[in-house]
Amino acid sequence: MIENDLKIILKERINKTIKEASNEEIYLALLELTKNKIKNTPSIKGNKKLYYISAEFLIGKLLSNNLINLGIYNDIKNILEKNGKNLSEIEEIELEPSLGNGGLGRLAACFLDSIATLGLNGDGIGLNYHFGLFKQVFKGNKQKEEKNPWITKEGWLNKTNKQFEVLFGGFKVKSRLYEIDVVGYNNGKNKLHLFDIDTIDESIVNEGINFDKEEIKKNLTLFLYPDDSDEAGHLLRVYQQYFMVSNAAQLILLEAEEKGYDLRNLHEHVTIQINDTHPSMIIPELIRLLGMKGIGTEEAINIVSQTCAYTNHTILAEALEKWPIKYIDKVAPQLMPIIRELDNRVRAKYSDERVYIIDKDERVHMAHMDIHYGFSVNGVAALHTEILKKEELKAFYDIYPEKFNNKTNGITFRRWLLHCNNELSNFISELIGDDYKKDVTKLEDLLKYVDDKEVLKKLDEIKTNNKIKLKKYLKETQNIEIDENSIYDIQIKRLHEYKRQQMNVLYIIYKYLEIKKGKLPARPITVIFGAKAAPAYIIAKDIIHTILCLQEIIEKDEEVNKHLKVVMIENYNVTKAEKLIPACDVSEQISLASKEASGTGNMKFMLNGALTLGTDDGANVEIHELVGDENIYIFGASSKEVMEHYKNRDYISKEYYEKENIKELVDFLISDKMIKVGDKENLNRLYNELINKDWFMTLLDLEDYIKTKEKVFKDYENRERWNKKALINIAKAGYFSSDRTIEQYNKEIWKLN
Ligand SMILES: *Cc1c(COP(=O)(O)O)cnc(C)c1O
Repeated sequence: MIENDLKIILKERINKTIKEASNEEIYLALLELTKNKIKNTPSIKGNKKLYYISAEFLIGKLLSNNLINLGIYNDIKNILEKNGKNLSEIEEIELEPSLGNGGLGRLAACFLDSIATLGLNGDGIGLNYHFGLFKQVFKGNKQKEEKNPWITKEGWLNKTNKQFEVLFGGFKVKSRLYEIDVVGYNNGKNKLHLFDIDTIDESIVNEGINFDKEEIKKNLTLFLYPDDSDEAGHLLRVYQQYFMVSNAAQLILLEAEEKGYDLRNLHEHVTIQINDTHPSMIIPELIRLLGMKGIGTEEAINIVSQTCAYTNHTILAEALEKWPIKYIDKVAPQLMPIIRELDNRVRAKYSDERVYIIDKDERVHMAHMDIHYGFSVNGVAALHTEILKKEELKAFYDIYPEKFNNKTNGITFRRWLLHCNNELSNFISELIGDDYKKDVTKLEDLLKYVDDKEVLKKLDEIKTNNKIKLKKYLKETQNIEIDENSIYDIQIKRLHEYKRQQMNVLYIIYKYLEIKKGKLPARPITVIFGAKAAPAYIIAKDIIHTILCLQEIIEKDEEVNKHLKVVMIENYNVTKAEKLIPACDVSEQISLASKEASGTGNMKFMLNGALTLGTDDGANVEIHELVGDENIYIFGASSKEVMEHYKNRDYISKEYYEKENIKELVDFLISDKMIKVGDKENLNRLYNELINKDWFMTLLDLEDYIKTKEKVFKDYENRERWNKKALINIAKAGYFSSDRTIEQYNKEIWKLN
């Protein structure tokens, strides 16, 4: 019995009963108990193995997730309750691993969960960043970055004795492998391998997140995405990337050899999924290592080309990495002859210089290497893949049409429904049984309740309960008071101009001015943001500053604060997402059409019964198709129109700014009221950016956005109709399970057996 197990562990550790133990002591006991269970969970095996290599794994806290997947969540919850303890409070003790930045890292984490749940033989490989991305704090209405330590003496991270040598230009380091077990839902386990070095010196980080970027042996795995606004920062990223892939390649070859496979048939036993361009150097590194094992270049290239597959996550040019040759020459000089050979082979075959690996400016295009020397290139939503084929990567699609395929992203329903919204998931079970937990298409059975008033009312009650929970959480953590009877309108995602938090800001200004004029909303509105800005991304930080200033102005304005509230969540991460998403009424997915490759936040919100206010972009397009016009709020220019504007260079933001009703909103950014609480330099910069450049066409869509948002709020007042829409969204969300995505990856790319 599990209760007995827990009692014994507590007795041995601290000689206390469950009742007597503190939350912290219970947390550690549960950690031990869970790890014991995991030890007894069989490892997933197979004749072929997938390695998912990624610079980020945004895995979130693991206690509840592991309890759910081991099938003991409810038992533990009940045992604790019986003894006057609360599992969600105990969970708070755990520190969230900060091993990712946003959607790309969260996707990798959802994929690991689904791979294990489907019983597929597949591990993750990444880096063990000691201080993660960074911890965001607000001071003087601005973002400040601090280190975010998350590694504790006892935790999910297991140190191993596995070490490899990694050769950098001029020196060597010895790596150390750490591992985190990944447990499938009612299935076996896989691993997340995280590489590190023993010589890391955490004490070199002084103030904030500053450290000496040139002391590679001390700093290599301190941070994810260290500041790259100077050359030392760029070089450090290349050091990290080469460290990651050299270890990955050595581990993969070692495992293959241990199983007795002939490396000449590597592709029959291994598939490597390259998540975005960060791990691209694994291609030349594998060719190099195979060469050292006596396999000729020609053959090694053939083997690797049948082993590696590449996922593209963006069409933003600045995100497609191009490293100067001189950086690679410094960090991993042994790779350059191989990369030149790969480029020469391309040049011998094709005259179109757009497909060369090395360009005129002596830079290596990582994505180009992936496409030529991988067997699969996939986009992450239907629209995104079409844009890759027809626009961004057209030159490659013309050469290799057979390599291109789409895998629309997904999310794990274990974390994003069962765990984060236990009440909703139990209610769904009451209505349609438990089958949907294994077969998500069963969620469609909910559709038979669309006109059931009792069901719709209950759905409303669950939403309100979640809104109250969020209210309590915000009160405790940020001392912010929100009203559960207001509409919760939420935009949480990395801060980036293309995601257009600034458009939401302009709506808030619109609403503020309306209220000042006496036009009150039918019901109070709470607009919630959560977003980290990259430390060197100036305009993104200006937008955060603007949101925080508006938060202050509105809070202090007695006329307005009863009707409108702005909340910026500090240090947005997975844990916060799990509390925000179940409480959301309106999901803001307002990127400039064509720019958001997929989005996964949009899927989490839909699954939890929020309605989407969004552009026809990324996976919003597919949500739109599934739920129909009636059950989503789509506005703004289409991706086609946007791409035309870019081609013709005919979008001039000033022309939009000059419209009376828009000018008033933009001008407010530099009004006396704003300057009084804010920083003139930051506010002016954003203002000028919007009227003189506005590369992501905020003003183009602003009027339609305001109009549509007004309709959303009006529709909200018909509570029964709204809840019906919410139910339809939940019922149609099954398509966005990452189990479906992974089944497609496996069937069409990995072919594991
Ligand atoms: C899901 C998720 C994201 C991705 O959100 P998008 O809206 O798709 O950009 C980013 N961060 C966290 C913490 C998430 O859970």
